[in-house]
Amino acid sequence: MLPEKLKVIHLASEMAPYAKTGGLADVVAELPRALSGLGNVDCYTVTPKYGFIDETNMKEMPFDVYFTMTGISYSVKIKYIEFNGSLSSFFIESKDILGRDNMYGYADDGYRFAFFSRAVLEMAKALNFKPDVIHCHDWHTAMVPVYLKTIYRDDPFFKDTATVFTIHNLGYQGIFSKELLPFLDISWDEFKVEKLEYWDNINFIKAGISYSDIVSTVSRQYSKEIQTPDYGETLDRLLSQRKDFLFGIVNGIDYDIWNPATDKALVCNYDETSIEDKVKNKLALQKEMGLPEDHNKIVAGVVSRLSYQKGLDIIINSAYDIANLGIQLVVLGTGEEFYQNMFRRIAYELPDNVSVMLEFNDPLARRIYAGSDIFLMPSRYEPCGLSQIIAMRYGTVPVVRRTGGLVDTVIDYYDQNSNSPTGFCFDEASSYGMMSAIRNAVNIYYEKDNWKKLILNCLRADFSWKHSAREYLELYKKAIEIHRSL
Ligand code: ADP
Repeated sequence: MLPEKLKVIHLASEMAPYAKTGGLADVVAELPRALSGLGNVDCYTVTPKYGFIDETNMKEMPFDVYFTMTGISYSVKIKYIEFNGSLSSFFIESKDILGRDNMYGYADDGYRFAFFSRAVLEMAKALNFKPDVIHCHDWHTAMVPVYLKTIYRDDPFFKDTATVFTIHNLGYQGIFSKELLPFLDISWDEFKVEKLEYWDNINFIKAGISYSDIVSTVSRQYSKEIQTPDYGETLDRLLSQRKDFLFGIVNGIDYDIWNPATDKALVCNYDETSIEDKVKNKLALQKEMGLPEDHNKIVAGVVSRLSYQKGLDIIINSAYDIANLGIQLVVLGTGEEFYQNMFRRIAYELPDNVSVMLEFNDPLARRIYAGSDIFLMPSRYEPCGLSQIIAMRYGTVPVVRRTGGLVDTVIDYYDQNSNSPTGFCFDEASSYGMMSAIRNAVNIYYEKDNWKKLILNCLRADFSWKHSAREYLELYKKAIEIHRSL
């Protein structure tokens, strides 16, 4: 018998709008809300209280939570925001360990996030919130399933707690020296190749995959791809060994948070009854980005972390071809210095066609989603990708490489099996591949009626969370069954 109302704890290193570097933060904010909206799930979401997080509207638990790690006694404060009866967000505060100026990038990140994982388990006990499922997101939280099978194995509080581990990006694994192991309160018995050992190091994501009841990824396509050497980031064999426990559920977006009809960041709101107003956003974007204001010019938008994964070198190599087609390229991103430099350089060389903003800027991102005609995502791999979904929500046509979640979310204009295409897809991760898709988009752009249909298809596509939240609920039930059968 399953409980009438499932109790679920989500834990992650980021949650929008408090701490965000990418799509993980959006999912961790939006999925629990969608789950609690189903009516039969109570969700607690827990993230670290980093130094930069604004405390306004937060309350503090009247008691601290105590625990020891390798003999050292710690106490953490619990800050929280109560949204409604079935959804609350908690922040673990430990100034020295978690409350730093940045989320990541410290030599002791392995220790920090293992500490966070321990603190979440201890918080659940202190609040007497006995979870049916703990849903761990990405490597930072992967020690939870390990702890539940080691130090908490005989703890009656967690006897019925199943674990789901979601891989949002297999490219980030959390690999640390084995010297860290004793500091995590994990015995050397776990340091085996079928457990968390990885080429004589500790690999957190490997631990998450090995120790949790169910593993999931954020699109069906990516769940298949990661079982192959090309996409498995050296863990493909382990993932295919666990294939009966590996599922893919595509991410959604919150249609209230991302809504061109109400978005306050836009100069002009619009919906499918007023798509002619979208062009006002394009003219405003051109002005804001210092590009010639011309409604006839196609604007191609990019909002992205600047990393190899995203195929930005393909965009940089194509800059002159894009400019030769008369397209204006607008780029918003932060990340690796190499890409920042290259983008600055093409913006310098092609001032009428390329404009870049190298910062994290949510309102500008929204204006790019709204003001662009097409949205470029030539990703080398893409677990799900939210940007192409947001672009569609704003009636902007995605041009994407056929990989991972981009396959599950964008229907190619030339797909024979669909009457409602939403974008343009290509296979080859090269300038040649992307430019052929861009040329196709340009051709259709000038067929005004067909382009309008494409925009409408994008605006009408439904990637709200309601479908995926129900799929997660089924996954939780499966995890509980598996856990009980062990
Ligand atoms: P990722 O691999 O980075 O998680 P996604 O497409 O899944 O990629 O999600 C990216 C999220 O981060 C989207 O909400 C996008 O709008 C946002 N984003 C990325 N870069 C920036 C930036 N420089 N400024 C504002 N938002 C950004």
